[in-house]
Amino acid sequence: MLDKHQGARLANLWDDGKAAGMTEPEKLLYRSNLLGSDKRITNYGGGNTSAEVMEKDPLTGEIVEVLWVKGSGGDVGTIKMDGFSTLYMDKLRALKGIYRGVEFEDEMVGYLPHCTFNLNPRAASIDTPLHAYVPKPHVDHMHPDAIIAIAASKNSRELTSKIFGDEIGWLPWKRPGYELGLWLEKFCQENPDARGVVLESHGLFTWGDTAKEAYETTIEIINRAIAWFETENTGPAFGGRSKPVLAAADRAAIAKKLMPVIRGLISAGESKVGHFDDSQAVLDFVTSTSLEPLAALGTSCPDHFLRTKIRPLVVDFDPAQPDVGNTLAGLPEAIATYRADYAAYYERCKRADSPAMRDPNAVVYLVPGVGMITFAKDKATARISAEFYVNAINVMRGASGVSTYVGLPEQEAFDIEYWLLEEAKLQRMPKPKSLAGRIALVTGGAGGIGKATANRLMQEGACVVLADIDETALEAAQTELSTRYGKDFVRSVNMNVTSEAAVESGFGDALLAFGGLDILVSNAGLATSAAVEDTTLALWNKNMDILATGYFLVSREAFRIFRNQKAGGNVVFVASKNGLAASPGASAYCTAKAAEIHLARCLALEGASAQIRVNVVNPDAVLRGSKIWTGEWKEQRAAAYKMDVDELEAHYRERSMLKLSVFPEDIAEAIYFLASDMSAKSTGNIVNVDAGNAQSFTR
Ligand SMILES: [Zn+2]
Repeated sequence: MLDKHQGARLANLWDDGKAAGMTEPEKLLYRSNLLGSDKRITNYGGGNTSAEVMEKDPLTGEIVEVLWVKGSGGDVGTIKMDGFSTLYMDKLRALKGIYRGVEFEDEMVGYLPHCTFNLNPRAASIDTPLHAYVPKPHVDHMHPDAIIAIAASKNSRELTSKIFGDEIGWLPWKRPGYELGLWLEKFCQENPDARGVVLESHGLFTWGDTAKEAYETTIEIINRAIAWFETENTGPAFGGRSKPVLAAADRAAIAKKLMPVIRGLISAGESKVGHFDDSQAVLDFVTSTSLEPLAALGTSCPDHFLRTKIRPLVVDFDPAQPDVGNTLAGLPEAIATYRADYAAYYERCKRADSPAMRDPNAVVYLVPGVGMITFAKDKATARISAEFYVNAINVMRGASGVSTYVGLPEQEAFDIEYWLLEEAKLQRMPKPKSLAGRIALVTGGAGGIGKATANRLMQEGACVVLADIDETALEAAQTELSTRYGKDFVRSVNMNVTSEAAVESGFGDALLAFGGLDILVSNAGLATSAAVEDTTLALWNKNMDILATGYFLVSREAFRIFRNQKAGGNVVFVASKNGLAASPGASAYCTAKAAEIHLARCLALEGASAQIRVNVVNPDAVLRGSKIWTGEWKEQRAAAYKMDVDELEAHYRERSMLKLSVFPEDIAEAIYFLASDMSAKSTGNIVNVDAGNAQSFTR
């Protein structure tokens, strides 16, 4: 990713060769994707692009003017053709006749669907009138850091004219909506030669007669702002450094300690997932003299604000005398104070028809000398919130370097956060999945049962850390799952479960990746077979190490995290039918599996008072996809039954009471049940998934 600091200019990426054969809508898509590909031009989901295109009306056959504009909820960087809404321009113009004034501007959103061209199902966004009423065919609206730095400066009007002269105008802060569309139109009529306009506390509008001209104007104007900051903003960032930066390993170590504790304190209403960012932009800010005063001002651009809340929480931590114990002890009070402040802000600003107060917890946690931690309902949202706050940091850096930075006025911020149109958008969101916001670690995660389990949990919205010793299989599993569910949801760690150090560091990586842990699936295993007189001590110890000690080590680590996090916890052991049923020629394996089951019972007893549940799934003969059921073990079992290895699956099926084969997905289903709230009142249980085997009936 490109460095987001001022310095590097934006490149003009327009390629005439590529654009030559494109239709106007295709050129709009091309331009949008180019602009959205750089976070310095606009943040994720922020900004809009549009083009007015002459099209044949499907009803009358006449050629009519159609506005193509990014639809509601889209992102210009990743938008595809179906992300644009299309509206009749003459109908959009006719809306002016029924507009009742600024107090009623929200009702205009309800009229937009009446303007739809060609039954396009993509909902039009609130920004549509802003694009429709600029009397130019191609319009870009971006949220560039360098422009918002001007827009969020106390003297932004003066700075705009100083940098751009008459080419770029300036409009005072106005919440995006119908009225702002009319303001833009008036501005263009009064300033026919202007190429764009800076919106105070918000962003940039630019336009052109062709798609290429609009694109190049946008890039040129942002580059001029970047260049201006290069010459004007030459002092130390944020007034200079007042705190040391800890070394990378120490920063990570502190974050691992803070994240689960914060998570436990803010996850009462919904489970949250964390993200840690210690990029240079963040470190410059969290070590500066201006950290506290600037953080208290909150963000400026409404997009930044919606994603990062009214203001971040600055964690009380002194990197000059690092004492994380003190910080941890102070967190409950710091978070309670933040919540009380948020509730007071809600009470101060609420209106008669405001929606009820939402989650009062902070999204952004700034740790001096360490970095930034963000928490949200899922990993993507937490990561994107961090990206937004980095945009806000860049804005504050620019504005405070050349002027006085001004955040959005509190009432304006509130009116956007609790905007009824925003509330309606939230209400339309799909219901969260059953494991949304939950974090699971699966040992043996690259194998048959492990991967099927990760898949099942991710299907339900969980984030999963795959732990395995097989690097190649681990990489393949991570690629497969991230392709299916998105990169944000899965991480992998190399973990030998018999190594105390490896277990500790693997769980640490999981904490840094997602901010906590809710579910441990202990599944890593092996199987051996030998008559007792032929069982070497090494073979005996190997079974004990991986199956008994390995399960102990990962459980101990999970318990430590659960107790710090104070939000309950869930452990599922994948044991075996052989943990209950004795089997000839496999005493080491059977005994170690029995140890697992008894360990689970002990842990269920110990964990109950902390709402930590521990349960066991007992599979039998899950051959497909298994790494255990390859090579030696398979041959040994086949030899024991005097049959060919290919006949084993049928053999086990016929041996079962239900005459069914057991697959990894069957085990994963039972694990999901025990890991989810469906089994909230079960602990210390064993679920057999073995197609029926009287020997392993629990008693
Ligand atoms: Zn905007």
